[in-house]
Amino acid sequence: MSDETRPATKVVQGGRRKDWTGPAVNPAVWRASTALYDDVASLRAGVKTNADGEFFYGRRGMPTQWSLAEALTALEPGAEGTMLYPSGAAAVAGALLGVLKPGDHLLMTDSAYEPTRRLCDEWLAAYGISTTYYDPLVGAGVADLVTDTTRAIFMESPGSLTFEVQDLPAIVAVAKDRGLTTLLDNTWATPLYFPAIEKGVDLSIVACTKYIGGHSDVMLGSVTAAPGAWPALRETAQILGQCVSPDDAYLTARGLRTLDVRMARHRDSGLEIARWLKGRAEVARVLYPALPDCPGHEIFARDFAGAAGLFGFTLAHGDSARLVDALRHFGIGYSWGGYESLALPTEPGRYRTATRWTGGTVVRLSIGLEDPRDLIDDLSQALVAA
Ligand SMILES: *Cc1c(COP(=O)(O)O)cnc(C)c1O
Repeated sequence: MSDETRPATKVVQGGRRKDWTGPAVNPAVWRASTALYDDVASLRAGVKTNADGEFFYGRRGMPTQWSLAEALTALEPGAEGTMLYPSGAAAVAGALLGVLKPGDHLLMTDSAYEPTRRLCDEWLAAYGISTTYYDPLVGAGVADLVTDTTRAIFMESPGSLTFEVQDLPAIVAVAKDRGLTTLLDNTWATPLYFPAIEKGVDLSIVACTKYIGGHSDVMLGSVTAAPGAWPALRETAQILGQCVSPDDAYLTARGLRTLDVRMARHRDSGLEIARWLKGRAEVARVLYPALPDCPGHEIFARDFAGAAGLFGFTLAHGDSARLVDALRHFGIGYSWGGYESLALPTEPGRYRTATRWTGGTVVRLSIGLEDPRDLIDDLSQALVAA
């Protein structure tokens, strides 16, 4: 038996230290602002060590939060630690603010999540940090965009609206050669299907609101760091006062325990429905890297251990809004990765500057855990209605 367990086992076992769970299977919801010390000497010692996983003050968390953070770290072999944030957007901001300072230059994928772009364009720019957007398919060509002040390269793979898979090993190789920090928005694959730190990324960002929580009832984000990136990440989160409630940490950990079985169902149903859509005359393109003829599939097959159930498609004719309105089993709303299916018409062309999106409106589907045959029946009637 090897010492290293497999990811599905880590999902179940991670962070469940006996010190934290007591006699129960899960740690309790520790509601606390104050941790009480036995005496002044131990109070003073606590300030000095400032260690993780030791009682200090509520903002540093309690066993409920420590357990979740440790479980997420365990899913990223080679990682040093994980910081938790009140949302995925806060995690993106926390990761970038720990790396960049005024005068720095950031390379950002043109396929990035829109609030990430807003952070760069409206906020980082005001602090003297410039951003250049790059073609997500640039690969090793990203080297041509590196300047004397470039400090970091941010990736999102696949992009959550247009699903381009980035050649992450090629980009990481450029970054290592030039001494740059790499950040990845890893929300789609999760560390289960893409252990980013092991693949050379410095900071792996996950909106746990999506698949990790998995039940559409909690907002939470995480950043897991390689050893070299950990001290600055941790210090920045502490200075910015980032913390999450024990209830939210508990719900997220509860979701995490079933991640492996849920992801398998999302993946299998996603593939079945994407294949079916591809065969329909009303459908122009299906944007799903798990499909063999989707651009980027070779890179996906090389680098990923599995696919999420989130993908897009475009219509050859018909109206995307009418299609989404006609669906009965898909909710209309933001977010994704929950147990229930969602559909959304999106306009990726609005959020591009380095590349042009010529595909028009993309209908994005988050395939939930329903019977895929019911979802196909529903899509079938909605395609006719559109
Ligand atoms: C949703 C999302 C986020 C932000 O997460 P929130 O928890 O909603 O703030 C970040 N990145 C991607 C790719 C997302 O889909």
